[in-house]
Amino acid sequence: MKEKEGKEKEEKKEEKQKEGKEKQAEKQADYDALLDNLYARLPERKGTGERFEPPVAELFFEGNKTTIRNFGEVCARLRRKPEELAKYLFKELAAKGALEANGSRLALNARLTPRQVNEKLDYYIQGTVLCKECGKPDTHVETMQGTRTLVCEACGARKPVR
Ligand SMILES: [Zn+2]
Repeated sequence: MKEKEGKEKEEKKEEKQKEGKEKQAEKQADYDALLDNLYARLPERKGTGERFEPPVAELFFEGNKTTIRNFGEVCARLRRKPEELAKYLFKELAAKGALEANGSRLALNARLTPRQVNEKLDYYIQGTVLCKECGKPDTHVETMQGTRTLVCEACGARKPVR
């Protein structure tokens, strides 16, 4: 008699275990669905943390001269020397010019549109500021034996740059 009871209890226990497993599977499925949902809503971009908002050059004009009034801030945001970005813009915009007010402004001796200037600034950011691996702007350029390398401080990636 006792043996039979024992067996029945054993069977019930097994049933309960089975139920538990099914519930767990259900929970797992719910969780997976939740994650899928979450990932679907994330922007398609590698890396974590907040999105980098690229700076925009603000211009003012005097005759045939175009001045980037927030040049110093742009350079600070990109963590690049004003001289370096100025050199790039002179070349890309085919214009001569000069840094003004300790590098906080850049004067260009040409009549340029905001679009022209910001297009070149974007190229610069894409090409020599943002990490090709993780997309973060926490980078610097190292020059070794004439080769310029973009070094990412966030993920450690190293890529040659122009
Ligand atoms: Zn990186």
